[in-house]
Amino acid sequence: MNKPQSHQLIILAFFVSFSLTNLVVSARVFPNVSSWLPDHAPPRGAWDAFRNLTGCHLGDNYDGLANLKSYFERFGYISHAPPSNFSDQFDDALESAIKTYQKNFNLNVTGFLDDSTLQQIVLPRCGVADIINGTSTMNAGKQNETASSSKPRFHTVAHYTLFPGMPRWPEGTEELTYAFNPGNSLSETVKGVFAAAFARWAEVTSLKFRETASYFSADIRIGFFSGDHGDGEPFDGSLGTLAHAFSPTNGRFHLDADEDWVVSGDVTQSALSTAVDLESVAVHEIGHLLGLGHSSVEEAVMFPTISSRRKKVVLAQDDIQGIQYLYGTNPNYNGSSATSAPERDSSDGSNSSPWSVFTLLTFSYLYFTLL
Ligand SMILES: [Zn+2]
Ligand SMILES: [Zn+2]
Repeated sequence: MNKPQSHQLIILAFFVSFSLTNLVVSARVFPNVSSWLPDHAPPRGAWDAFRNLTGCHLGDNYDGLANLKSYFERFGYISHAPPSNFSDQFDDALESAIKTYQKNFNLNVTGFLDDSTLQQIVLPRCGVADIINGTSTMNAGKQNETASSSKPRFHTVAHYTLFPGMPRWPEGTEELTYAFNPGNSLSETVKGVFAAAFARWAEVTSLKFRETASYFSADIRIGFFSGDHGDGEPFDGSLGTLAHAFSPTNGRFHLDADEDWVVSGDVTQSALSTAVDLESVAVHEIGHLLGLGHSSVEEAVMFPTISSRRKKVVLAQDDIQGIQYLYGTNPNYNGSSATSAPERDSSDGSNSSPWSVFTLLTFSYLYFTLL
């Protein structure tokens, strides 16, 4: 083994000293967004390279198509093909995956990589697959819409999905407890965002949610993690996959620590093009924790993608129908909150500056990579 060179030792020393200052993972809070440089560039995300594939269709051989196949495999559109790696050949399996994806996301079913399809593909999204164990979900699993190639719009038909086998928390469950990974040292403000997200589901069902300090015995365990964190679903840095959660009664709820999570203030006014609204993602993932899969209804919180700088926290009728199918309704629910629930952040116009009070949650990347 070679003796380490001096420059290698210096680099190592730098990383060690840096990591020692970050032994405790704490949320760094930036109360005043105006101190940031405005960011006018389009958000750079994990899947940006897919934009180069515009126009690719059946028969093409193009650098990067193998990565796109991995993307489709990850979200359930191409079945796993071990032991060989994916090729850059635009084959029948890829065309079929694209058509299914286009149906699920209400796009024209062209079977090739047109602009609108790629724009959807590169959006940040939930890490939970759209099609699980080959079971068709979302639009593509629904018989009566597959004939139309025009953009279908669904407002009256239920499009929520459930996980295969329809797992749910046991009959008679009245209260679920949740706890935060002690290693994250989250502030009360951040915890309050999750409480608000749980309340959105509690409002329409008879379920209640209670925070507990006991992480390992809680029904739902929430943690921020970076990169590979041991469950075979590594996170990918800024944008790309934002979070994932497991179906009942697993209870694991993981968020990508490398996102620019916005915990308060108007995310739509963020100077940062990579800002992601924490409550929006939390509401979505709690849907999974309770048993909902992805929906093709774009307004539903269970739609798989969410743009950066976007807030979507109000349950749509589709979400409500899905959760009430599993757990029944809340006797106190008057059936009107789907459109009238308060948008506590975006209507919070107490500060007239476009850079109004705004809080960002970030984590030390090194903590997760070196320790
Ligand atoms: Zn999801
Ligand atoms: Zn995970």
